[in-house]
Amino acid sequence: MVADRTAQGVLVCLSGPSGVGKSTVCQRLVRRLDAMLSVSATTRPPRPGEVNGRDYWFLERADFEARIAEGRLLEYAQVYAGQYYGTPAEPVAEALAAGRTVILEIDIAGTLQVARRYPDAVTLYLLAPTAGDQQQRLVGRKQDTAEAMAERLAKADGEIRKAKECGAYKHFVVNADLDDTIDRLVAIIRAAASEHKENSGV
Ligand code: 5GP
Repeated sequence: MVADRTAQGVLVCLSGPSGVGKSTVCQRLVRRLDAMLSVSATTRPPRPGEVNGRDYWFLERADFEARIAEGRLLEYAQVYAGQYYGTPAEPVAEALAAGRTVILEIDIAGTLQVARRYPDAVTLYLLAPTAGDQQQRLVGRKQDTAEAMAERLAKADGEIRKAKECGAYKHFVVNADLDDTIDRLVAIIRAAASEHKENSGV
């Protein structure tokens, strides 16, 4: 894959263990930065209340695999229970070309792929202050079966180690106080945006 250096907007990847508060953080960042939040495609079934095209594009496996083959995904990975998750490439490229900040809420494997294609991407890993906090948030949101929750919690420990070792993340931010976390992330993204502008001579 060729590095895309013509993009003008800033691409942000946000990852973190399940239950760390990524979705809330993303929504707040979208409002503060007037950013575009990418809607991922997935083969996992919708949870109650999730809407196709808003939360995810819910696709059949064959459809997802056709999009991989056609090169229509910026990145993709099998995240939980062998289900595919991926970022549709076109809306991201269009928004970046229009100078917008684009936020991807994706896992580590996806971030590694994005970082290769967009070396200037701002890669963020969100951490919970303690494992107990994370467990409480996960149980509190009541979206998953006990089995799915256990898988997510078990995966979280190894994930944090992997995030630190893989070299894809430029920033690790502890999400202790939401307002404070948002302020710090906004500062990181704005700093990257001005550096990006200087480098591309805009
Ligand atoms: P959930 O099933 O809870 O909606 O999402 C689980 C995890 O899948 C998210 O926390 C995120 O890390 C990951 N994920 C969501 N969308 C994408 C995507 O487009 N690509 C990749 N690689 N991971 C994703």
